[in-house]
Amino acid sequence: MANVKVAIRVRPLNAREGVDGGRLAVQVEDKLVRIKNTKLDGRQDVHGDSREKVLEFGFDYCYWSVSPEEPHYASQEEVFQDLGVSVLAGASEGYNVCLFAYGQTGTGKTYTMMGTQDSMGLTPRICQVRNRFLEIYNERVRDLLRGRERKKKDSLRVREHPEKGPYVQDLSQHVVSDYKQAVELLEEGIANRITAATHIHDASSRSHAIFTIQYTQAILENNLPSEIVSKIHLVDLAGSERADPHYCRDRLTEGSNINKSLVTLGIVISALAQNSQMSSSCQSINSVASEGDAGSTVGSHTSSLSGGGGGGGGGGRRHCFIPYRDSVLTWLLKDSLGGNSKTIMIATVSPSCRSYNETLSTLRYAAHAR
Ligand code: ADP
Ligand code: MG
Repeated sequence: MANVKVAIRVRPLNAREGVDGGRLAVQVEDKLVRIKNTKLDGRQDVHGDSREKVLEFGFDYCYWSVSPEEPHYASQEEVFQDLGVSVLAGASEGYNVCLFAYGQTGTGKTYTMMGTQDSMGLTPRICQVRNRFLEIYNERVRDLLRGRERKKKDSLRVREHPEKGPYVQDLSQHVVSDYKQAVELLEEGIANRITAATHIHDASSRSHAIFTIQYTQAILENNLPSEIVSKIHLVDLAGSERADPHYCRDRLTEGSNINKSLVTLGIVISALAQNSQMSSSCQSINSVASEGDAGSTVGSHTSSLSGGGGGGGGGGRRHCFIPYRDSVLTWLLKDSLGGNSKTIMIATVSPSCRSYNETLSTLRYAAHAR
């Protein structure tokens, strides 16, 4: 398995998108996604272009309909068979694994990661053993599984252990012995996701939720019992759409934090993909960069973000600097991004021509990660 894999999942048209005939902007053929700007009618798209055009992107997996007339959208089971099984295979080989769902609000991130009661998503299917559940909201970390009595002490510190890497201090851990208990934990955490101001329709789309599974295997090493421990992070990212400038200041801070962490994530993943294509010599630089960080909190270090757009690649051929510390999200996931780890991104999009601009941004972001 390559170190970074990218999947696209196109959800079915919803009722609102269907009313004007449900024109589609997205078509999929095998592992190619085509996007056509049918809805522009002479207006310019985000890139200042008003010509009708078709852009094409290639990915490792694409899930959608066989034909627009007779949509057969990939089932949760199909997605699990590819991505969930990859996650478990990576962990059982001793890798840390990160799986992210990225995309505009309303395109199916939570559906993919968590699912619904009738249609379980990846996380409950992957669930095993020891779980932690947290969210990052406005660069602050909250425990989603802390007992009610301690809920008031809200924001947790991110620290870095000299050997074990970044971790969240005081984050609760829960041992589960079966699948049902894991799902109960998951439901409790989802119910605890941030609920900011009331004018936000879907508050959960404003924070990143990270569900962490510690995957422990008992093995025999030289005839002695031993353990291989790997971590699986399952991440339901905040919505990738731009912050609306009409929001109040809180919303803007929130929006710029979301933007910054998503941009940093894009830079980190694409730098890792480049590094894995180059030589393995780059990977040692990651650990050098973290020396002396033990016990410090996030935010003290800022390195340049390449002015938005998800570009930059984290440095030139020689340096391979990876800006993990530019956001809480990437810092916390550092030991599961790069080095001895596997990364999977599933980018979710709407097929509708109404979402053309957002879908194009998502496809570009996802294509950049490979
Ligand atoms: P997000 O988390 O990206 O904001 P949701 O997962 O909440 O989006 O999805 C929005 C709506 O679309 C939900 O009602 C969800 O059940 C539905 N939906 C999303 N993806 C699919 C899919 N692949 N198949 C069927 N319904 C879907
Ligand atoms: Mg969601």
